[in-house]
This record gives sequence, structure tokens and C-alpha cells, in this order.
Amino acid sequence: MVATQLLSVDPIHPDAALLAIAAHALRQGALVAFPTETVYGLGANALDPSAVDRIFAAKQRPFTDPLIVHLAGVEQLDGVARTPPTVAYSLAALCWPGPLTLVLQRADRLAPNLAAGRPTVAVRVPAHPVALGLLRACQLPIAAPSANLFSRPSPTTAQHVLKDLAGRIEFVLDGGPTPIGLESTVIDLTQEPPRLLRHGGADLAPLLQLLPDLQIPTRPLIAAESAPAPGTQLRHYAPHTPLLLVSGHAAAAQNLLDAALETLSARGLRAGLLLPDEELPRYPRWAERIVALGPGEAPEQVGRTLFTRLRQLDELAADVVLARPLPQTTAGLGPAVQDRLFRAAEGHTVDAETPAALSTLLELVEQLLPGRMLTCQSGERTV
Ligand code: AMP
Ligand code: MG
Repeated sequence: MVATQLLSVDPIHPDAALLAIAAHALRQGALVAFPTETVYGLGANALDPSAVDRIFAAKQRPFTDPLIVHLAGVEQLDGVARTPPTVAYSLAALCWPGPLTLVLQRADRLAPNLAAGRPTVAVRVPAHPVALGLLRACQLPIAAPSANLFSRPSPTTAQHVLKDLAGRIEFVLDGGPTPIGLESTVIDLTQEPPRLLRHGGADLAPLLQLLPDLQIPTRPLIAAESAPAPGTQLRHYAPHTPLLLVSGHAAAAQNLLDAALETLSARGLRAGLLLPDEELPRYPRWAERIVALGPGEAPEQVGRTLFTRLRQLDELAADVVLARPLPQTTAGLGPAVQDRLFRAAEGHTVDAETPAALSTLLELVEQLLPGRMLTCQSGERTV
């Protein structure tokens, strides 16, 4: 156990004296959580293997899951990456500071445990004044994964960080809620053609102008397919309460969810709902069991609070949560939001438009909560 100090900083004009305290701690090998424009990061000196080790220990993160290195500016790139391709500089000019992470060949001076012995490094320049101020103050490359316990929703407030990591890290800089709320977009430039490893805070459309041959997976990657890409494990961002996604049109989903909520109640289980705002009026009977995602047509807005909503699900005291995705879109943050919902559900999806949807859903719940469902009551609907 270490004492965790919370330092409140102005998110736009952070106090230089507070940043100096945190920068000094980083140079001494301490762990400092700080806000970025995506989510809160858990920082350590990327040149110091024992500081990097402490990140894995604090997060309970497997050592095989490498960390992103944060820089104060593109001029530091040569110090962490070996001969970056020209397109890396073009992408940096377009997006940095900003929510784009590039995977490049790594420089030898970086701590080797940073990337599980891989010859690569993931790197970005964050856009948040607190993150940038801290990076400038310490003049070090800073390894910083999201400041949450492994597989939990990423933290978008200092309170989320404390909930997961109090007693495990030295400092939390509290700069209020993070503006984007979803992690960075990750592109691997060490592969030919380059490959999108994670949808995130950067819109892909302008990046495609520079990377016309970018490989974009058509469905979320799962770990076995994408060994070099952590954050791609199927169980990720998960609330403690098991989550199940219900796809299909809103009307079909309504029929299925109404039947499912009733059947589950009859079998002694309480189900909660996670819904885009537009669908809330369809479920007046279950109002106190609903967490609203925000407007389905505005994924940027949904993204900002998505991880807070996922954490709120655990307050519903539900046995299982049935969630609806946003309307399909390839624009803006739509794919990043869909990806996080899919992983929060560990990929468990039921299509409401299939004939056996209710029994499929009930079987899945039975799998997720083995032995918890009472056996069929007489007179119960078994569609
Ligand atoms: P997190 O730090 O929890 O946001 O997750 C780390 C993210 O960084 C993962 O999703 C990976 O896609 C990416 N990453 C970090 N280092 C590497 C690397 N050396 N190779 C590929 N991806 C990496
Ligand atoms: Mg993470």
C-alpha cells in the first residue's frame, strides 16, 4: 500500500508548481495518474524498467499487454522510435497533439518490459493541457495505459481512478472529466499494409487520405487474431454485472426485451437495461432499471460518458444487463463506441429479429449466471 495523493489542477491552465511536483515524482520512479483528452492515463518513466513494472502490478495487467508511450511533442519521436517512416510524420502533423497512437519500431533506450519484449512501441502526443504540461515538465517519455484495473471500464474522472487504484499509486492529478471519453485510435505502421488495431478518438476519414491502404477489420478483433494488439481481448471495459447486447430493429428489440424482463423476473432474476435515449420511451415499466447511453445519433456525446455509464450499471443491483447498440455508422466515433459496447458484453449478442431470440437470450443468461435461474414456472411464456 502507498498513500495516494489527489492534486486538483485547472484543466485549461494547470498550476506549474503542481505539475512540477508530479514531474519530480515521475523522475523518482513514482506512478502518477493524469487526465488526457481521451481517458485518464497511469504514467511512469518509460526509460525505467522498475517504474514500468509497477504499472503492470498496480493495474493487475498481464505483462504481455504493452503500454503506450506519451511524448511532449513530435520532436521527441526519434528518441523512442527507430527510423519512423515519413507517413508517421505526416500523421503526426495532422493529428498530434491528439487521440492517435502510432505503432513503430522501438528505440533501445526504452524499458524492454514496456512492450513485452516486442521490437515495437506505441506512441502519441496527447492534447490535454495537463498531460502536455506534465510531459514538458518532466522531459521524459511517459508510459501510460488507461488508469483502471485490468479489464475494467477506462477511467474518465479522477474518482474512477481512485476507485480502482487508490493505495496502489502515488498521485492522481484531478483535471475533471476527460473531453473525448474513449481511448486513442491505434494504427500499426510496422505492418505492410498498415493496420488499424483499435478504433478510438480520432476520426478515420482524414487519416485515410494519408493511409489509403489502411487495413480496417470489419468486425472487432479478438485477442487470438491480433496478438500484437492489447486492448483487443474480448473481455474488456466490462462492468461487474454481465452484459448482453440485443441487436435488430427497435420494435423487435422491444418485444424481445419486454418478454425477457418478465421471464427473467419470473425466474428470480433482475435484469437492467442500457439504452440509447431514443428507445427510453419504449420501456416505461422498467424506468428505474435503465441507464441511458445518450442520443444514439451523436456517438461523440455517447462516447464522452460511455465508461461512466458502464460503471453505473453496477449500481442497478441487476443480475444481468440487456443493452442496445447505437444505430450502425462508420462515421466519427460510431465504430469506437460500438467496439467498446461489444467488448463490455464480451461479444455476447442476440439478434432480436431471429425467431428463437427469447430462448437464445435465456440460454445466454443461464451461461452467464450458471445455476442462478429458477427452473421454468408453469404458465410461463417459452417462445
Ligand atoms: P491502454 O493502454 O489500456 O489504452 O491499451 C494499450 C493500447 O496500446 C492497446 O490497445 C494496443 O492497441 C496499443 N499498444 C501499445 N503498445 C503496443 C505495441 N507495441 N504494439 C501494438 N499495440 C500496442
Ligand atoms: Mg486500457
